Amino acid sequence: MFEKIAALIFNYFEFMAKIYYNNQQHLVIQMNVNEATELNFGIPITGLQNLCICGTCNNECKPEEIYYVAGINEVLCCDCIIDFCKNMNHYTDDNSLDYEQAHFNKIAEKLNMKERAIRTTDGKLIIINKDNIPVKD
Ligand SMILES: [Zn+2]
Repeated sequence: MFEKIAALIFNYFEFMAKIYYNNQQHLVIQMNVNEATELNFGIPITGLQNLCICGTCNNECKPEEIYYVAGINEVLCCDCIIDFCKNMNHYTDDNSLDYEQAHFNKIAEKLNMKERAIRTTDGKLIIINKDNIPVKD
């Protein structure tokens, strides 16, 4: 019992959020259930981490493989993120890209990640280090 509690406490502080790079350039963050719980994704369960349900297949996401897709503001499981990135075309209209950028940056900031999304002069979304974001005049 004590070992289980110790493991939970240890895991709780083991943050690992990272960018999930993909061919379609969807802005996706892979996180674990501790981080997802901190962000209020999933269903709260008293005394435990949230139960994170995939927004596509409705199955429970694996604790270390929760994928936040900024363009749809939703978390997906490890199977569905592959399917999503393979089959879902990236939105290209300004409103959708603004939405994706804003949600990605909000979540990246809350997770203390160094990456942020910016728009290039030709309108594409790219990920750069937040320290390298050009200052506007
Ligand atoms: Zn799924």
